Amino acid sequence: MSILLDRADDRTGPALCALCERPLATSPSDDFCSESCQQKWHAANKVDQSITRGKRPAA
Ligand SMILES: [Zn+2]
Repeated sequence: MSILLDRADDRTGPALCALCERPLATSPSDDFCSESCQQKWHAANKVDQSITRGKRPAA
């Protein structure tokens, strides 16, 4: 019952944080080791989450 885990291991080994490249370890995120890293990454990539949450700019 570990097919999904095995496939993940086949790719690149332990997943690393997209920002600091540390192992994600117990992080609930698939991309970042911590919430602060996620926020920094989004800030660096200019992803404004306030827009995608439904707060649309006035036309
Ligand atoms: Zn990180």
